[in-house]
Amino acid sequence: MRTGYYDCHLHSQMSFDSHLTMNRIAEIAYDLDFSGITYTDHVDFDYPGLGDKVFDIEEYYKNLKRVQEKFAGKLEILGGVEIGMQPHLADRNWAFVEKMKPDFIIGSVHSCQRCDIYDGSFTAGKNQLQAYTAYLEEILTNIKAHTYFHVLGHLDMILRVADYPCRSFEASECKLLVQDILWELISTGRGIEVNSSGWRYGLNGPHPSFKIIKRYHDMGGTIITCGSDAHRTYSVGEDLKEAYQLVKEAGFKEMSLFVGGKEEKIVL
Ligand SMILES: [Zn+2]
Ligand SMILES: [Zn+2]
Repeated sequence: MRTGYYDCHLHSQMSFDSHLTMNRIAEIAYDLDFSGITYTDHVDFDYPGLGDKVFDIEEYYKNLKRVQEKFAGKLEILGGVEIGMQPHLADRNWAFVEKMKPDFIIGSVHSCQRCDIYDGSFTAGKNQLQAYTAYLEEILTNIKAHTYFHVLGHLDMILRVADYPCRSFEASECKLLVQDILWELISTGRGIEVNSSGWRYGLNGPHPSFKIIKRYHDMGGTIITCGSDAHRTYSVGEDLKEAYQLVKEAGFKEMSLFVGGKEEKIVL
């Protein structure tokens, strides 16, 4: 039976936007007394303005094997991926994960309507409701088309990166779309991740918000993972314990861990 803390969203040097070695991440997690970690390096095909941001699978596994051997019996180390979803990429992404066969797959949305969400090009010219509903509608389209992933990454990320006054999906149009997204995930045997980076960037909570985590639980959702989304040394495992606490408060008795593509449970 697994217990303790597992950080299941971590970016190593295999991600285009991180310089952390897999070894350094493992050292930090071990020092924090965690039970395990899962690397989830970026795979983003056709990223707006950047093109394909993808790592070499062979090199990934070479690095992973080395660190798994070094920490054997001390820290459980798994190899995953965070794959960027866009409606036209379902086949390409599927072919990649089919070839890689990672332990764990986070499906994330980093762009919308073929525009980057982070640099403001997606929200330009849209009011708050237009941007939030378009974002949630595209997530729904994506999760219907991209059937291979295990958990949806940072569901309400746009609340942090867009510059609108309301940082919640409490408007009724948004609430209904979030509910549709959660139903689609639950009915197809997939889950959500709780991403503790929200705290790091001043959101006063994780992605998604406690309200959404609780709603997912109350609708019957059982598949849930936690991760810090670290790209720097100081962020590895940051606020992970707080995220675990919120998951418990939402009513969950177990956390999910993916090993060889299969869900296992961590007792909370
Ligand atoms: Zn992400
Ligand atoms: Zn990430």
